[in-house]
Amino acid sequence: MKLILLGAPGAGKGTVAKLLTRIDGSVQISTGDILRAAIRDDTELGKQAKDYMNRGELVPDSLIMNIMGERLKEGDCKNGYLLDGFPRTIPQAEGLKVLLKNMGEKLDMVVELQVPKDEILDRLTTRRTCSNPDCQAIYNTKSKPSKVEGICDICGSPTIQRDDETVKAITTRLETYDNQTAPLVDFYRNEGLLISVDGTSTDSVINAIKGSLGKS
Ligand code: ADP
Repeated sequence: MKLILLGAPGAGKGTVAKLLTRIDGSVQISTGDILRAAIRDDTELGKQAKDYMNRGELVPDSLIMNIMGERLKEGDCKNGYLLDGFPRTIPQAEGLKVLLKNMGEKLDMVVELQVPKDEILDRLTTRRTCSNPDCQAIYNTKSKPSKVEGICDICGSPTIQRDDETVKAITTRLETYDNQTAPLVDFYRNEGLLISVDGTSTDSVINAIKGSLGKS
């Protein structure tokens, strides 16, 4: 499957993407994960992205389009991909359209995960992520705590709060979503690709996606 997962920070795009990869071998492509890896490795890309990310702002479209232009050509995309956190602006969506056209590919659909604002805020402040770059399992101190506090169940590495999970950065990220990313909902509705699902339950999101794929 070739999907875009659209939704505010904390809507569950990463969690849903990880579950969907188990269905048919599609790969999760998270621009946020790619950028965080670049910051960790202190690459040129990481240096350029770091300050924007820590403030909760978007990194420039040109950087993101370079990353995605390369990433979508890699061999593991042959079985499909779940785009998690990309596109995030209208220019990125237009850029993706051109990339896909040049590669002769079509998206199956764009899934909008709808989650109420108060739940989003609650989820973001209680989210913990495994610090091991090869694992990155996601926990929540309230709804999905790790068995031992602060330690990942899967790989035993410490779980951490991301640098952009301060209240200030979270507020900026949510405003950025409303201003720059939410317009993509209409963009993809006009393209006839949009399905909107209630994102409060991960299981029902997965079932809704499976149902829609079956029909398409
Ligand atoms: P979330 O969806 O929870 O905000 P992500 O990991 O997707 O988390 O993104 C974290 C940060 O990485 C964003 O706030 C932004 O600074 C940067 N980023 C990720 N993807 C993009 C993108 N497609 N365009 C611009 N910036 C991006």
